[in-house]
Amino acid sequence: AKRQRDGKPRLFRQAQEDELEERLSLERELRLAIDHDELCLYLQPQVDEAGNIIGAEALVRWQHPERGMISPGHFIPIAEETGLILPLGHWVIQEGCRVLGEWRNIPALQGLQLSLNVSVRQFQQPDFADQVLSVIQQHDVPPERLTLELTESLLLSDPDGTIEKMQQLQRAGVSFALDDFGTGYSSLAYLKVLPLDTLKIDIAFVRDLALGMQATPIAATIIALAQSLGLRVVAEGVETNDQRLVLAQLGCHIYQGFLFGRPLPVDAFLRTIVEDARA
Ligand code: C2E
Ligand code: CA
Ligand code: CA
Ligand code: CA
Repeated sequence: AKRQRDGKPRLFRQAQEDELEERLSLERELRLAIDHDELCLYLQPQVDEAGNIIGAEALVRWQHPERGMISPGHFIPIAEETGLILPLGHWVIQEGCRVLGEWRNIPALQGLQLSLNVSVRQFQQPDFADQVLSVIQQHDVPPERLTLELTESLLLSDPDGTIEKMQQLQRAGVSFALDDFGTGYSSLAYLKVLPLDTLKIDIAFVRDLALGMQATPIAATIIALAQSLGLRVVAEGVETNDQRLVLAQLGCHIYQGFLFGRPLPVDAFLRTIVEDARA
């Protein structure tokens, strides 16, 4: 094959250039997506052992006019690298609180928690807690109904600032979940000092669970740890009844996953709940 001066095969270099071009145009378009109303939240139910929906996690989607639906795994990393995660993350808080505000008047939704994902960079803004509190006020949201999902990597850079912001929000009534637990670098010492309510077991540790298998030590350890710290534990990515049964045996009583419901647009999610309540 012909080689360019940099020694890479021409096709390979072309592919790299295409990829870069693709990224740059996604980045350009993402800048406009918020103003153009192209982002939306999908909600996925969280259920208890009896199958009752006790909450939902909001997952952002990008409804691109030409490319169709783009999943967050694709654009959140770009948003994080470019700083666009700040306006995007703020939009998620705004929209999540707007939804919670509307839920206040719907009887079937009383007691339902809404969980929002917060990026490290977003949380690290010095005025993050004030921002959230002001949006909560603006939409007249009972703070007790809001949970923020954080990841362990927050603790790497600024543990003191993290704890301070969490405490400020917690005093106002907001709850916290540690997302993707087991995949990061949590020191167990921090787990004790963070004002957390919930650990979420990462999907990677749920995937391998099956009845009669021995492959459960990580899930078992996380659940035991949560219990000893007095935290709720939510298993994510539950797809089979076997997984649910093993989790229940291990002492995990809150589940999220395709077995119970896929993420749905807010209106569709609402319809399933209201229908459930009637049935
Ligand atoms: P995550 O917070 O761990 O969210 C769970 C992901 O697992 C979601 O993917 C969800 O659709 C998927 N999932 C749920 N149940 C199942 C299941 O039973 N099987 C399988 N295979 N997957 C399941 P999604 O919506 O594509 O989101 C991917 C990631 O993007 C999220 O992971 C989160 O890290 C990030 N993300 C989503 N929304 C936001 C947001 O509003 N802000 C920020 N900062 N990140 C977000
Ligand atoms: Ca999450
Ligand atoms: Ca997660
Ligand atoms: Ca995850």
